[in-house]
Amino acid sequence: IALDSRSFPLNVPSVPRGEYEPMAIVVHQDVSALKEAEALKDEFIGIAAHELRNPLAVLQGYVQLLQSQLRHTGVTLTPLQEESFQGIEQGTHRLTALTDDLLDVTRLQGGRLELRQEITDIIPLVKRLVKRFQLTSQQHQLHVTAQAEFLLVSIDTQRIEQVLSNLLNNAIKYSPQGGLIEIRIEENQAKNRVVVCVQDSGIGIPAQQQARIFGRFVRADNAQAHGIDGTGLGLYLSRELIERQGGHIWFQSIEGQGSTFFVSLPLVDIPQDQGMDTP
Ligand code: ADP
Repeated sequence: IALDSRSFPLNVPSVPRGEYEPMAIVVHQDVSALKEAEALKDEFIGIAAHELRNPLAVLQGYVQLLQSQLRHTGVTLTPLQEESFQGIEQGTHRLTALTDDLLDVTRLQGGRLELRQEITDIIPLVKRLVKRFQLTSQQHQLHVTAQAEFLLVSIDTQRIEQVLSNLLNNAIKYSPQGGLIEIRIEENQAKNRVVVCVQDSGIGIPAQQQARIFGRFVRADNAQAHGIDGTGLGLYLSRELIERQGGHIWFQSIEGQGSTFFVSLPLVDIPQDQGMDTP
């Protein structure tokens, strides 16, 4: 049996002093059924995501095969055929990303998410990623600045790329076309940390929903009202992935004006005589 216990201190001066003076009321609530339902839900999500992965990989394979065949045979598609093709491609891509996120959620819940940390310079990693995003999102301007020459961190590069991709993707998704997205890589010398900031001037997050925004499947009302697709899993996963690597993630946001997300990670100390710039 799982118990959720809460105690409420009693401060009632009118209660007569006697043998049993009431100090607090303790409420024990049996939450086993709730816990069981949560576990079942997680198990179901895991099985569904796992089962979806194979047919999706097959679908993606067929789309790529068809594309290369069409290219080789020189067939020109009608605009409608072209549009249908793109729809299938984008749809399978989104479904694959969703199933990957769901699988990560179940791995995290089951303590099965492994991190492979290695010492990496975060500056080229961020710059490479921003370049990739700039190529695919030409309706936004992405601008990256770095304060230092190199900043070494001990991270799982793929997982950090996943977090930063999510932040960049959100900055693009929740900003109007033509919007500027600024990415700053800053060194906090006092705390021996690097802070990566992703700033947009998009729809922002309503103040009353900010406290819950890192929760699982949580989405703000304005994101849904604008008809922007999403699952509410990216920030949940990002926080888990960052905190497991000794980092922090937080944000500042004003609805209608924009948001800035910050990721901080501990820097790796390099002994003086092993400095990277020693000839
Ligand atoms: P998704 O974007 O897939 O819904 P996330 O977990 O990445 O999921 O984000 C959770 C929610 O936080 C979003 O649905 C949106 O309401 C809000 N959000 C995240 N990033 C931004 C941003 N840059 N600007 C405005 N809202 C954001």
